[in-house]
Amino acid sequence: VISVRNLEKKFGEHEVLKDISFDLFEGDVVCIIGSSGSGKSTLLRCINHLETPTSGQILYHGYPLTKDAQTINRFRSQVGMVFQQFNLFNNMTVFDNCMAGVHKVKKRSKEYSTEICMKYLEKVGMAPYVKAKPHQLSGGMKQRVAIARALAMEPEVLLFDEPTSALDPEMVGEVLSVMKQLANEGLTMVIVTHEMAFARDVSTRTIFMDKGYIVEDAPPQELFNNPKEARTREFLSRFM
Ligand code: ATP
Ligand code: MG
Repeated sequence: VISVRNLEKKFGEHEVLKDISFDLFEGDVVCIIGSSGSGKSTLLRCINHLETPTSGQILYHGYPLTKDAQTINRFRSQVGMVFQQFNLFNNMTVFDNCMAGVHKVKKRSKEYSTEICMKYLEKVGMAPYVKAKPHQLSGGMKQRVAIARALAMEPEVLLFDEPTSALDPEMVGEVLSVMKQLANEGLTMVIVTHEMAFARDVSTRTIFMDKGYIVEDAPPQELFNNPKEARTREFLSRFM
């Protein structure tokens, strides 16, 4: 679905991504792990064109993305993103947050948008809270609303940047279980996470990044049980 080819990103002199290449196939659940500052968020932001790569290419179904706004907007409606900090509109209800993308941006009819928002709010267990405002919800609930909002756009791929890092520990499980369900249903996802057990259980491939490089890209059984690179072993040993 998406191919990243020799992607590099510099902020001034600081080279944050170095020669990144990988392919995302339909149904893949790729978890990206690595230390703070290794470039994981920057990679997701480049994939979604929230950042402009310094060099290299991102291909969508084999076609390079051109920089015109129309192409990028069409791509973004196919590739959704869920953030650590939820990014909900605080002055809007759960339902209106969900509607914002599908009705206002994607311009689907009100009937269709309502139906699809309810479908996904139900799926994440948030249908009883449609009238609530974000400040009335726990972090785990807010993140489930953010996931429903992203799903309502009916994306082909969903990118997650540390979706559970801002949550109290007791709420991590409810969000991970929603994501696990989506994985089981075959949604194509890229998930930056520090939840090693989740990556090991749920990913079809795990990518370990260090200092702007992809050090290892392998099925989780291989990467966690039998890492090829010393840097991967060293990183994983911190979680044992
Ligand atoms: P974390 O696990 O802490 O989220 P990360 O792997 O997501 O880390 P990035 O946020 O991608 O890392 O950052 C990689 C490097 O790029 C860091 O050194 C960071 O300071 C730098 N960086 C990120 N965004 C910018 C920016 N907009 N301008 C300048 N430097 C940036
Ligand atoms: Mg990050």
